[in-house]
Amino acid sequence: MNVSQRAAAIEPSATLEIAAKAAAMRAQGRDVLSFSAGEPDFPTPPPICRAAMEAIEKGHTKYTATAGLPEVRQALAKYLGARKGVAIDPACVLLTAGVKSGVYLALLACLDPGEEVLGIAPYWVTYPWAVKIAGGHYRAVAPGPGMRPDLAALRAALTPRTRALLINSPNNPSGVVYTAEEMASLVQFCAEHDLWLLSDEIYEDLVFGGLKHVSPLSVGGDAEERVILLSGFSKSYCMTGWRAGYIVAPKRLAGHLSDVLSHISGNITTPTQHAILEAIHSGGPYLASMQREFAPRRDAMVRGLRSLPGVRCPDPDGAFYVLADFSAHLGGRWKDDAALALAFLEEADVAAVPGAAFGAPKHVRFSYATPVANIEEGMRRLQRFFARQQ
Ligand code: GLU
Repeated sequence: MNVSQRAAAIEPSATLEIAAKAAAMRAQGRDVLSFSAGEPDFPTPPPICRAAMEAIEKGHTKYTATAGLPEVRQALAKYLGARKGVAIDPACVLLTAGVKSGVYLALLACLDPGEEVLGIAPYWVTYPWAVKIAGGHYRAVAPGPGMRPDLAALRAALTPRTRALLINSPNNPSGVVYTAEEMASLVQFCAEHDLWLLSDEIYEDLVFGGLKHVSPLSVGGDAEERVILLSGFSKSYCMTGWRAGYIVAPKRLAGHLSDVLSHISGNITTPTQHAILEAIHSGGPYLASMQREFAPRRDAMVRGLRSLPGVRCPDPDGAFYVLADFSAHLGGRWKDDAALALAFLEEADVAAVPGAAFGAPKHVRFSYATPVANIEEGMRRLQRFFARQQ
């Protein structure tokens, strides 16, 4: 019996793979510090947990409509409408098991076999694989200076088979936050070439230095007709394990998404839907206190990485990653960023993700969703690691 070509061609998620490796080393007694998978270290706020437990106790444990409970979709439409400054029809909102399955579902509904999706490097590790599983081809386009979108490069990458542009701001792994002008020009670009615009906004609440996240849904034009917003509660409300994601889709697509989902998984878990409702109602103060914690963490990570010989990194404006350039160390003892990240793990007990997985070779991504003390200790370990090489 054969394994399908599709399955055989897929490599596992680099972020989850490194995190699993770090966890396995820890289980063997190694004191590994993990800056790998991006997951807030804070617990899910207690009222959100209580809402799910109460839902279970009240017997809310059965199927719901595929797209989600009407009251959750209504509350989400109102909450998102206020944030994005546009009216959102609850019929356009659909709950998904995290952004990961939302991306995949959206691709299934937008792509025919062999069609292409443009992305901007560096990109989240899952995008090329999700496109591949959906039968399409992911075409990563080099960014302009500062890892920002380059419209000329996007135009040059178009083919007759291009159907969508997939963007992510705040960006994982670069931390770049697109401006309103950039978003407007991307919406315009998609309008000119009749593309769907898939916008992953999962880090929308994690923006620093007085900047503001802008959704392409908010910039006018025909955004309402072509933007597919993908986001969730994982990062903002520390709910990674709940799989609390959502899509806001143009009206003509939303029903198709629900039809496809009805054959894949049906609704997301019912207790999670009740938890989402509570996060919308009472999560604000928890989000604000978590946001305050992230700025010193970011500063500690940037300071620590810049203290390493030959390492360069920008100040990220959003998300909770630093993408550091280690090219000064590659080509000799460590042939590439994967070899270097492996050496960090095995010889310094520091887990971080090689940049190549994000379309950023010669870089390594460090998540700073962990206390400052861990970050400082991790950076001391890397300083000693490089000192030992001399
Ligand atoms: N999105 C996070 C990351 O990039 C979590 C792990 C994953 O699903 O990739 O680290």
